[in-house]
Amino acid sequence: MSLVVVGSIALDTVITPKGRRDNAVGGSATFFSLAAVHFSPVSIVGIVGRDFPQRAIDEFKKRNINLEGLEIKEGKTFRWGGEYKKNLKNRDTLFTELNVFKTFSPVLPDSYKNTEVLFLANIHPELQIQVLDQMVNKPLVGLDSMNLWIDVSRDKLLEAMSRVDIIIINDEEIIQLTKETYLADGVKFIQNLGPKTVIAKKGKYGAELFHHDEHAMYPICPEDQLVDPTGAGDTFAGGFMGYLASKNPKDLKFSDYQEAMIYGTVMASFLVESFSTDKLETLDKDQINKRLGEFCKLIS
Ligand code: AMP
Repeated sequence: MSLVVVGSIALDTVITPKGRRDNAVGGSATFFSLAAVHFSPVSIVGIVGRDFPQRAIDEFKKRNINLEGLEIKEGKTFRWGGEYKKNLKNRDTLFTELNVFKTFSPVLPDSYKNTEVLFLANIHPELQIQVLDQMVNKPLVGLDSMNLWIDVSRDKLLEAMSRVDIIIINDEEIIQLTKETYLADGVKFIQNLGPKTVIAKKGKYGAELFHHDEHAMYPICPEDQLVDPTGAGDTFAGGFMGYLASKNPKDLKFSDYQEAMIYGTVMASFLVESFSTDKLETLDKDQINKRLGEFCKLIS
């Protein structure tokens, strides 16, 4: 099945206890698509400036990621900087430079408008709504967001959320967004808005899946080394949605969502092992299947 993602494509400056990377390729749509493409064909909607490295574009192409919806505009690519503290849990945002993102208005190529699965990665909720408005059919839609949009655009975010099927978001953001005290109440709040599937990401404590009245919890998958967690959530979402897109989205059962959680978790465990997209770029099916087997053994 086809899978379209709209999100940021960025040049990130990241500092972790393991070192530093300047202007490394990142962004929510980047991590998402490099993970999802292992399970389903992926098409990107996004924008970059003329300074975006050709090497990264070639990497997308090498992986057969469809770039018909990628706008390359005069100006600088979106830039973001983050610094992690010793335990790699807490992160300070150093800067956010919107650059070409400031005037971005996503336009879906006609060939994207009938996609069966759509993922609205972390961007301004107004843009997420603009994309929903352009869909011709009714795809299975997932949505991610962040604290910034809860702070500055909560109403629009709630509107966008009410129109999708799956929410993938941090547990702390669920509490912040819904103003509930307990996670389960926050999830109910979101389910009452519309989406019946909610995934609460809990960093090093794994993730919880809520699907209608069913519930399952997953630990993280052990990684070989922890270098840079930037993009782990987007990579999780890529594995999760990519796996769902490999099934018939009209006929998904709870067990499919449970399996998708495992695929997302395993993909995220690879991402954190290097800076930027380094590990995702070298990953092959054998490595993924080997770790899937180990993780399934661990949680069974
Ligand atoms: P995560 O580690 O899942 O929070 O994702 C980090 C990625 O999100 C980085 O590659 C950033 O470029 C991107 N990012 C950070 N802030 C924003 C924002 N306001 N809008 C869109 N993408 C962002």
